[in-house]
Amino acid sequence: MSEKKSIAVLTSGGDAQGMNPAVRSVVRAAVHKGFDVYTIYEGYKGMILGGDYIKKAGWSSVGGILHKGGTSIGSARSDAFRTVEGRQQAVENLISRGIDALVVIGGDGSLTGANLLRQEWPDHVDALLSQGKIDKARAEKYRSIFLTGLVGSIDNDMCGTDMTIGADSALFRITEAVDAIISTAASHQRTFVIKVMGRNCGYLALMAGLSCGADWVLIPEDPPRPGEWEDHMCSLLRAGRAAGRRDSIVIVAEGARDTEGNPIGSTYIKEVLEERLGEDTRITILGHVQRGGAPSAYDRYMTTLLGCTAVEKIDSSLPSDEPLLIGVQENDVITAPLMQCVQDTHHIRELIDAGDYVKAMELRGGGFAEAYETLKVMLRTLPSGAPRDQRRLRIAILHGGGPAAGMNTAALTAIRIGLDHGHTMLGVSDSFQGLIRGKMKEMDWMSVGGWVNIGGAELGTNRKPLSGTDYYAIARTIEEQKIDALLMIGGWSGYQGIYDMYKRRSDFSAFNIPMVCLPATINNNLPGTERSVGSDTALNNIVQVVDKIKQSAVASKRCFVVEVMGRHCGFLALVSGIATGAERVYLHEEGVKLRDLQKDLENLVEGFSEGKRLGLMIRNERANSLYTTGFMAALFEEEGGDLFDVRQAILGHLQQGGDPSPYDRILAIRLARLCTEYLIKECLDNNKPASFIGLQKGKVEFVDMARWPEMVDNEFQRPQKQWWMNLRYIAKMMSAPPEGMEY
Ligand code: ADP
Repeated sequence: MSEKKSIAVLTSGGDAQGMNPAVRSVVRAAVHKGFDVYTIYEGYKGMILGGDYIKKAGWSSVGGILHKGGTSIGSARSDAFRTVEGRQQAVENLISRGIDALVVIGGDGSLTGANLLRQEWPDHVDALLSQGKIDKARAEKYRSIFLTGLVGSIDNDMCGTDMTIGADSALFRITEAVDAIISTAASHQRTFVIKVMGRNCGYLALMAGLSCGADWVLIPEDPPRPGEWEDHMCSLLRAGRAAGRRDSIVIVAEGARDTEGNPIGSTYIKEVLEERLGEDTRITILGHVQRGGAPSAYDRYMTTLLGCTAVEKIDSSLPSDEPLLIGVQENDVITAPLMQCVQDTHHIRELIDAGDYVKAMELRGGGFAEAYETLKVMLRTLPSGAPRDQRRLRIAILHGGGPAAGMNTAALTAIRIGLDHGHTMLGVSDSFQGLIRGKMKEMDWMSVGGWVNIGGAELGTNRKPLSGTDYYAIARTIEEQKIDALLMIGGWSGYQGIYDMYKRRSDFSAFNIPMVCLPATINNNLPGTERSVGSDTALNNIVQVVDKIKQSAVASKRCFVVEVMGRHCGFLALVSGIATGAERVYLHEEGVKLRDLQKDLENLVEGFSEGKRLGLMIRNERANSLYTTGFMAALFEEEGGDLFDVRQAILGHLQQGGDPSPYDRILAIRLARLCTEYLIKECLDNNKPASFIGLQKGKVEFVDMARWPEMVDNEFQRPQKQWWMNLRYIAKMMSAPPEGMEY
């Protein structure tokens, strides 16, 4: 560790869900390092006003904010900070407190301002010295300030990070609202025009359009030609109605405009639709509801990781080092030169203003262009018609394993992508049992209408393993149904089933067809992928229930032992532990010993004696077969005496249910498209791979099924490499102050 640092953290610009978890994480990580840490209230305004606006923070000053939307340290816009005098005052306030590192959580405006402050810093120091406001020693000591930026913006409009803080939560709000609108729209055969935020970036509109199965989406990155797009939109909606669609949804981003630069407003779209289609059309402007509400699970745990990384970078950097943006690439935390990211972001805006939309789309990164391409296929109409490939293939889709939210989304995508390429798509009922009995049907475009946002698995899924004559029966079905390729969307037993078929290829020649597995399980226990479809919904289900459980205890001193699913895999327990602020997580991977329980009990007694009001322990369902949730609750209750009481909560199947979260829908759509195109290509090239797709180190890859045995721990049904185990130290750091420090 380098010398002691003094950090200030602030939130600035438009608020975003997830700013609170970020502030909490910076403060607690700093406390663990033994650094001084200050929270600056009301953004740059507070930095300039100084006084009580810049407060020393401690472990408990950021307690109870993890689940809250907005920012509890306030955010403001400051014109004074745009002036040299204002920034000089800010420098004086920071130096007078000995602050040598800054964490700014805000949008590109705030980060631009922060960078300017940092660039000018030495000049301000000289000026303050010459004005006698600081002495020579201070001027020498605080020559520069190290800056890290975390991007807080619901628009997801910043280069250098795939996701900005708040974007996932905003998408959550939008998809909930659009799902609700779809049900009323379908009842009355109405058309809705829904306006979502995004002045310069169409991310929210695009992803909401994909996630909710919209019929038409307008984004700033792809302005349509005036006079043409209206016809195109109306013909698509007309075709949808003719095909039996009951609801029509148009999503428009705030910043949408046509190629002439004219803004496209929701009222104009409504007029066009009413005039040309004679449709009863309503407008819904989602507005600030998109910014509000509790942060999603992702915006809690990912921002926690970002905050910790910012503090680590501060620890390992000199004040004079170049500023860093702490961002996300797929599932990983990354750092990038802050100013380059800000410049690239401005550059995209300039490209859009100059009409260079192709380049702007390219630079968006984070799968934006790919998602837009998928959207164009998915816009609900009919497949594009004649086969695009020379052979019409018969591709079968089945599920395997327990249900996971997003299975339907993946099946729908695969079916529509396959149909769009001109192939026959077969939906297999009841997992491998359907293959054994030949239970499957040809799916058409409208047969999957509405699947995009519903939980469960419409095709049916189960965990029955294959044995004995099952293989022969499956081989016969494949031959009789002339199946050219198989897509299995599911969890462990689905993967196992495909592996078992793969192993028997020499016995059953019918198994020599391309087969691919798409990870869909709440347990996130599959090899070759960092995330599986359904795991994000499960995390959100846990987080939402735990929020309520915590609230129920406000009037008493109580400790909860909450049991979550995951079988022997600790992903759900550990990540939900970070996202809910649990003080202890029990994992099968680590084991549970009596001495651990004793130590935990001592910590509980100490904490509650010092005034703590709530305890939260999260236990994986199979953490230990003897020390059950009931046992642990009883032990703590008995030993806690009158100091606190203990309740257990076994969350059970609610974790598997519910409509898929936007994260799961987007992941399902992305992976299903890639899998389907992969199967088509491999079939047409006469290859016969058996593989599983996954997200690894920022890339999507197909892994050969032959590697399954070496990549898994078969006994406990989990991957050999579990990336989330590296997060244990963060869970520990966030849940308790350093040894010897009071709560
Ligand atoms: P966001 O950070 O969400 O993009 P703004 O663009 O409104 O929001 O910026 C928030 C604050 O950051 C502004 O009120 C101002 O104090 C500061 N700021 C923004 N741009 C600059 C700039 N170019 N120079 C100095 N300060 C700036």
